[in-house]
Amino acid sequence: MIQPLVFKFGGASIKDAASIKNVAQLVKKRWTNSLVLVVSAAGNTTDRLEEVIELSLKEKRYDKELLELLTYHEDLCRSLFSPEHPIFTRVDNHFAQLRRLLETDTLKAEEGFFYDQIIGYGELISTRILQEYLCETGNPCIWQDARELVRTDSTTRMARVDWALTMQHCRRILIPKLEQFPVITQGFIGTDLLGNTTTLGREGSDFTAAILGVSLGASAVTIWKDVAGILNGDPDIFPDAVKFDYLDFEEAAEMTYYGAKVIHPKTIKPLAKHGIPLYVKSFLNPEMAGTVIGSFGQAPRIPITIFKNNLTLIDLRIRDLSMVGGFHFECIYEVAKKANWRIQLVQASAAHLRVLIQDMPVSDEQLTRPFRDVFQVQIRRQLKMITVKNPTDAEVKHYRQVAEKCYLEQKSPELVQWVYEPEYP
Ligand code: ASP
Ligand code: MG
Repeated sequence: MIQPLVFKFGGASIKDAASIKNVAQLVKKRWTNSLVLVVSAAGNTTDRLEEVIELSLKEKRYDKELLELLTYHEDLCRSLFSPEHPIFTRVDNHFAQLRRLLETDTLKAEEGFFYDQIIGYGELISTRILQEYLCETGNPCIWQDARELVRTDSTTRMARVDWALTMQHCRRILIPKLEQFPVITQGFIGTDLLGNTTTLGREGSDFTAAILGVSLGASAVTIWKDVAGILNGDPDIFPDAVKFDYLDFEEAAEMTYYGAKVIHPKTIKPLAKHGIPLYVKSFLNPEMAGTVIGSFGQAPRIPITIFKNNLTLIDLRIRDLSMVGGFHFECIYEVAKKANWRIQLVQASAAHLRVLIQDMPVSDEQLTRPFRDVFQVQIRRQLKMITVKNPTDAEVKHYRQVAEKCYLEQKSPELVQWVYEPEYP
């Protein structure tokens, strides 16, 4: 068998019938057995399902929202298939299952578990539609339930992958199929050891593509996006943003850590470990080169600007007159580890420590309590951070003004960061 190739398509690439036709066209041009397509939910289905879940948990009515989702998918199908095509029954069946799950109150005892059982229906349905459409238009491919492939622990909403088991399942299940036909499967979902559906975190389909790529020893993974590749700034904010042709794994991983949204943060590490290149290409312009992420070493030192939202600053002043030392760091890291903080930045001066983490759904009181004996604590939430790599004086001047209400500045020759309170209109 030729080495597998993994393509990932996000919700925007299949949001309507024209987009699905475009994806089909793109895939057909690159058709080979041993092609694995990893697909997200169509359009913003996942957001809509989150609303339905929320309503259901609050014991409120969600019929209207669910009907809108059904209509959206039926409309998609009506534009792609003849009225007697079996896809209509399939979609109806998925919605019937969905409704049944939403009505099963016993599932609601643990909200995260309830969420995981429902949220992946967007992917289950979208992959059915795309598979049927490809088959119908002369490109037979096999629909595969990703839950048979991606095995995880039972952490809800953000399950951790059991790599050994996943690799085993991928090879056993996928390789014989790929010898015959391309396979289409869902991003984002997996199963735990008890057979319950789990999810990999929002926007987790990129990560699924990496998991399957690594498990199959793919020659490359390609993420098809609505941007030309990875740029050095958000094109909505910087019209003259420059695309990288090549980017080193390390640099790309750093960019996602600072908040770049092009690729899911967990995607790069496994691919780098196995030396599998990651292509980021535009589904609107598939012939264009895009960006290749691989082992290239340092990228050219051009300025890169990245914004990140939803951050919490924990400001800790030592109560007695002792200066910052190992004890204080130990105290912080112990709490951080236990509470699973996603640390973004730590800054220390003589008697003052600042820890920036991603916002968490816990109260100020919960965040403050473990530190009160040693520190005076202040919490600031909903902050924003600007990171500029390889900054020039012009960038520093410009962003220092953007971050007008700045609570933290961190500077080194290759990096400047500002954490600030964004102004809400
Ligand atoms: N559909 C899921 C989400 O929107 C997974 C993904 O798109 O990557 O979060
Ligand atoms: Mg999505």
